[in-house]
Amino acid sequence: MIYDVAVIGAGPAGLMAAKTAAELGLKTVLLEKRQDVSRITRACCEQLIMDKDFQGDTVRLEAGKIVSLNNGFRVEYGGPTVDVTDKYFISPAGRTIHFAYPDRSPIVIKIDKGLMLQKLWGACAAAGVDIRSGAHVNGVRDNGNTVELSVTCEKKSETISARKLVIADGVNSRTAERMGLNSKRQCFASALCVIYFLKGVKGFERSALNTYFGRAFCGLAPITMNTALQGNDVACLVVIGNKNSPPEKLFHNITTKGALAPALGSAAVVGKTGCAARAYTSLREPFRGNVLVIGDAAAYVEVEMQGALACGFRAARAVAGELAGSNGFGQYTAWWQEAFEFNGDDYLQVAQGFALVPTYTDEELDYLFGLIEGEILEGTYNQYKSPRLMWGAILKHEDRIRSERPELHAKINSRAKTTLSDML
Ligand SMILES: Cc1cc2nc3c(=O)[nH]c(=O)nc-3n(C[C@H](O)[C@H](O)[C@H](O)COP(=O)(O)OP(=O)(O)OC[C@H]3O[C@@H](n4cnc5c(N)ncnc54)[C@H](O)[C@@H]3O)c2cc1C
Repeated sequence: MIYDVAVIGAGPAGLMAAKTAAELGLKTVLLEKRQDVSRITRACCEQLIMDKDFQGDTVRLEAGKIVSLNNGFRVEYGGPTVDVTDKYFISPAGRTIHFAYPDRSPIVIKIDKGLMLQKLWGACAAAGVDIRSGAHVNGVRDNGNTVELSVTCEKKSETISARKLVIADGVNSRTAERMGLNSKRQCFASALCVIYFLKGVKGFERSALNTYFGRAFCGLAPITMNTALQGNDVACLVVIGNKNSPPEKLFHNITTKGALAPALGSAAVVGKTGCAARAYTSLREPFRGNVLVIGDAAAYVEVEMQGALACGFRAARAVAGELAGSNGFGQYTAWWQEAFEFNGDDYLQVAQGFALVPTYTDEELDYLFGLIEGEILEGTYNQYKSPRLMWGAILKHEDRIRSERPELHAKINSRAKTTLSDML
């Protein structure tokens, strides 16, 4: 039998693509190597992001459903939630920059991603998707008329044929790599990430999303801490390392020697998730022949859950369009390039220009954060918008910085002139 569409990967992107494709009447097969998608083992903070027009969509949680305001889909949820209303950037001496919406509406809402995926899995089954769990896709060939997939399931190999293929196998997409689709993408870094679920963190507020900047914290990158769903006193600590500085070693230093040691030192590790991720430039043209690449598989780092759902929703329509003879992949590409900031020309420049670490010393971070301590900046999760707001507020004190700290002013200016000033 030849399917209309095969989808590789049952993360939010692939599940949404398969469900929507089946609802549009396409004969759909979904291939997922894991047995149980509701068990989250790959690191994810599981926060639904409330920013407007961020990563492909604006989503809200309404009456037990994740509702897309931009793309028009709905996803069953109905599980536990925690509203996170305050975001803090924290310097080594504890100077804080505070982000919050004036009406205290949440910046992010913590959800149970495993439950969301399970509901989508059920919706795929109900829509008639042929779901194969434990099915590992090892190879793909696009013959022009059909795409042939080599699949191994319980040690048995088979070939599956489909007229179109959607690759949604996540951030280190082996399938895109094997097909040569990554050949023009630049790889910046390979990161190892572990999320530690910690019980008994002193002084942790569930409504807070904290990011700690500075060498005193003993991380390689800024360390973030946010609430877990598991209980009032469980927090998630996100530690990013690499091969030379593995997260386990960093975690040891963070909890024993770093500025957070007094708060974390007696906390117990009650769970862990992890992942290895390569940061590639995005795949701006995410299709070739009969194959469309979506979600994290095509992204610079990540599309977030809402972006993955939006990609899946749009991808199914793109496939249906192609099968009906229209330029569905072209239309998908136009949306993809417009809806994700990392497909723009200046996102890397923004990211580099805004970087606090390792550009500034701990003492400089204390000074800069101290300038705007007490102000409340607009609530946002967006990793491009947050530093833009932060630097906008700090640079309102430029005259003071110039007179009090001329060397720091010169340092900011040397980066700001080429990177920050145009974007603030
Ligand atoms: C540390 C960290 C924190 C994060 N926090 C958040 C957050 O708070 N909020 C948020 O919205 N997003 C967050 N994200 C991002 C989010 O996890 C991803 O953007 C999202 O899950 C991407 O969905 P996806 O469907 O594209 O890929 P994935 O969710 O990675 O799904 C890919 C699927 O493909 C399967 N697969 C892979 N290879 C094969 C193969 N060969 N054959 C068959 N199946 C295969 C995998 O098993 C997996 O199920 C975070 C990510 C990280 C790393």
